[in-house]
Amino acid sequence: MCCSPCNHCSYCLSGRENLCAEVRLTGYQMDGDFAEYTVADQWFCLL
Ligand SMILES: [Zn+2]
Repeated sequence: MCCSPCNHCSYCLSGRENLCAEVRLTGYQMDGDFAEYTVADQWFCLL
């Protein structure tokens, strides 16, 4: 799943889930699709 929108606001109901105020995006608020394969400098990672 690419994101987790609320599914009831005007943006979600019009098919624009990416604009939802409650959306949780993969790779931003949630681990990304390839998170287990990602390499990043430790200074850019949250623990
Ligand atoms: Zn929504």
